[in-house]
Amino acid sequence: MSLSDRIVGLAPSATMAVDAKAKALRAAGESVIGFAAGEPDFPTPAHIVDAAQRAAADPAMHRYSPAAGLGELREAIAERARRDGLDVTADMVVVTNGGKHALYNVFMALIGPGDEVLMPAPYWVSYPEQIGLAGGTCVPVLADATTRFRVSVEQLEAARTPRTKALVFVSPSNPTGAVYPPDEVAAIGRWAAEHGIWVITDEIYRELVYGDATFSSVPVMAPDAAARTIIVDGVAKTYAMTGWRVGWSIAPNEISAGIAKLQTQLCSNVNNVAQMAVVAALTGPQDAVAEMRTAFDRRRRTAHRLLAAIDGLEVVEPEGAFYVYPDVRGLMGRTIAGRTVTTSLELADVLLDAAKVAVVPGEGFGSEASFRLSYALSDADLEEGISRIADVLAR
Ligand code: PLP
Repeated sequence: MSLSDRIVGLAPSATMAVDAKAKALRAAGESVIGFAAGEPDFPTPAHIVDAAQRAAADPAMHRYSPAAGLGELREAIAERARRDGLDVTADMVVVTNGGKHALYNVFMALIGPGDEVLMPAPYWVSYPEQIGLAGGTCVPVLADATTRFRVSVEQLEAARTPRTKALVFVSPSNPTGAVYPPDEVAAIGRWAAEHGIWVITDEIYRELVYGDATFSSVPVMAPDAAARTIIVDGVAKTYAMTGWRVGWSIAPNEISAGIAKLQTQLCSNVNNVAQMAVVAALTGPQDAVAEMRTAFDRRRRTAHRLLAAIDGLEVVEPEGAFYVYPDVRGLMGRTIAGRTVTTSLELADVLLDAAKVAVVPGEGFGSEASFRLSYALSDADLEEGISRIADVLAR
């Protein structure tokens, strides 16, 4: 065996694995509807693409630039945080190759062997793997449909030990679409501050909240927690820019200097052209964001209505991001398309084979009895895909 233990022990991304299988079936001529990938189906807004084209023609953009990000972009990110009411300067910002890379940097900079990280579950697939790569231990804290997939301070407190170094907080959440109301965000932030626990708050879905739900940020709601809070964000979801690969972290100076140092050895600067596109995204018109949000909201309501009508699924109406997370316990033990299904992994496999629909089984998110659908696909595909699921389950 030549591979290091580190890589042998790493789980491949469950969402990317399903998406790859669906794309392979599609390439083989099958009409597969993909609910697996967490990416908007819209093109990146034109003014952002134009800014990238201008940047690509500028020779200054053809050179190495500061590893922590272009000054213009770091300032634009800091300015947005100041508009939220936070005391943020550009040197607290490190620009990264997507939010995923920002999270990896943060775990590497903050977490080491022996450190425990509290992880509200169901959780996004990459957190535990990245924490493991940093040598830390992920401690899941499971929430379920009875609290609309939100953990309480009491649950966090019960999981706290002298080794608890950090909490990962994500609202709106992937995979559940849960959004914590302001008072719960404030209470969690106060609890973390009281116990000297770092909060890594993943705000990548902050613009995607619906109905009466509102986004609230931990350091804004609980200023006492700000000195130990790291914000992770990016443009992938808000501006339909998944392929551009730009995210960032905002951290207190000591941590951000550590992250920047890591980046000088790891990857140097993020692609300059993509960074200039993000300056345009953050400082330009925001109309496209509102339009996409309206489309996602419409699809959210459709997805919830159609899934809730299927016998055997229990569905909490999601309030943010673009995911719905039905509970499938009612289907366990049933024979579906000739196969007896006992896990959500098997169910997802049957749905892909028999309905030609790709969903991500709950196992990868730390909660087995569910699956995740992304509703960031066209209205027509959304309806067709769910009706295929309903047909196969009714057989
Ligand atoms: N955080 C969460 C909760 C996500 O769902 C994702 C992407 O799926 C990311 C971070 C990373 O996004 P990206 O690396 O594309 O910026």
